[in-house]
Amino acid sequence: MEKFWIYNTLGRKIMLFKPIEEGKVRMYSCGPTVYDYTHIGHLRTYVNTDLLVRTLRWLGYQVFQVMNITDVGHLVTDADTGEDKMEKKARKEKATVWEIAEKYTRFFFDSLAAVNVKPADKVVKATQHIEDMIKLVQRLEEKGYTYLIPGDGIYFDTSKLSDYGKLATVDLKKIKPGARVEMVPGKRNPTDFALWKFSPRDKKRQMEWDSPWGVGFPGWHIECSAMSMKYLGETFDIHTGGVDHISLHHTNEIAQSEAATCKPFAHYWVHFNYVLVDGQKMSKSKKNFYTIEDIKKKGIDPMALRYLFLTAHYQRLFNFTWPSLRAAEAAYHRLIGQLAKWQSRVGEKEVKVDKDNPFFQKFKEFVSYNLKFPEAVAVIWQLVNSSLKEEEKLALLLEWDKVLGLKLTDKVKEQLEVPEEVKRLAEKRQRLRQEKKYAQADSLRQEIQAAGYEIEDTQEGYYLRKRT
Ligand code: AMP
Ligand code: ZN
Repeated sequence: MEKFWIYNTLGRKIMLFKPIEEGKVRMYSCGPTVYDYTHIGHLRTYVNTDLLVRTLRWLGYQVFQVMNITDVGHLVTDADTGEDKMEKKARKEKATVWEIAEKYTRFFFDSLAAVNVKPADKVVKATQHIEDMIKLVQRLEEKGYTYLIPGDGIYFDTSKLSDYGKLATVDLKKIKPGARVEMVPGKRNPTDFALWKFSPRDKKRQMEWDSPWGVGFPGWHIECSAMSMKYLGETFDIHTGGVDHISLHHTNEIAQSEAATCKPFAHYWVHFNYVLVDGQKMSKSKKNFYTIEDIKKKGIDPMALRYLFLTAHYQRLFNFTWPSLRAAEAAYHRLIGQLAKWQSRVGEKEVKVDKDNPFFQKFKEFVSYNLKFPEAVAVIWQLVNSSLKEEEKLALLLEWDKVLGLKLTDKVKEQLEVPEEVKRLAEKRQRLRQEKKYAQADSLRQEIQAAGYEIEDTQEGYYLRKRT
């Protein structure tokens, strides 16, 4: 095992990573609420999660990652009021909640695949763990942490914990009623939150379960506590999510888990920053989002998005623009083109990776110190432009790709396998464009597409890739 450092929100500094069990990492990642399309913002969070997992594995750790799918209980407001996001969407789309969950879960995994994010080792659905959540609420009830608001639900009393809010460094006494989230009548403290909500009397819910307190559904936070502890134990190594989860979702997960077990919940909390569009957070509710389908529709290689995310540190805000994605695509394809050229000259010869090489050392230092991928990408280009032997450069880049996940081996192979006929069409199109015969060039593009390839014009000429 190599050393690894990461910024821990709990403690607010970069810390040397020490797993509970030597060489092993138990990790929980908050997954999506599956009531709408996965967008580029979510994908940044999950690409960064994937980079964390890959880095740990590359450094020699054995990682077991669990991710949830929230298919019930995430209300439209943070105040534990309003409707369940899933039920609301089902009404709008005139579908069952189960159909909504299935449709958007599939879209989520398809989107992850498009940017080469490996699904977690264990993916768990909230609706399949209601019993575990009820048991956890009972445990809290026995310890005196809960209270009932008649006709509303069972709530967690945050004033019973001396360190509530330690993750977000929230000072309880300074929060005025209604300041952070709307004040629910009957709540003892502004920061208290629902563990179990009763079904409304006047409306039939599609998803509801019996419980010792009455028919209803679980709160959003209890889901992640119950499922993470079930699969990872009461204390585990790393918990991840977007920065928006710090002050409420993760704060409440810690409160209820530690109240129930009297043990620390997760040792390291890793939070990924947002994608913005025109200075605003990309979000489902603001309707300012793009999906992987929008990228494909514009003829852009979805993997260019992964490359683009690599160029921005995970703790920084990231403003998404189409020109930046196109620039990332050009750089990504230039890299593949370069590798393909070397590969065709080097052939099948096995080349050992030189781990003492200064480029290798630099790359490793950057990724293992708080996932400094933008610096690691800079090392890639320094290597490409260096005077090292082509075969050595190739070996290093393919080794690093275990962490980067840019599918370099596959993409290079794809380049080397473009059929002669498609290459001929591309050459002909190139000549026609030089002669400014654009209409004819365009019809050749269509022929290329019909043969299953996409052609892009680049500084060096053109780039051919299989259509996705
Ligand atoms: P949700 O389905 O809203 O719970 O979001 C799933 C994950 O994506 C969470 O970890 C969020 O923090 C994250 N997320 C949502 N919107 C964005 C965004 N604009 N940029 C980055 N991450 C986001
Ligand atoms: Zn969660």
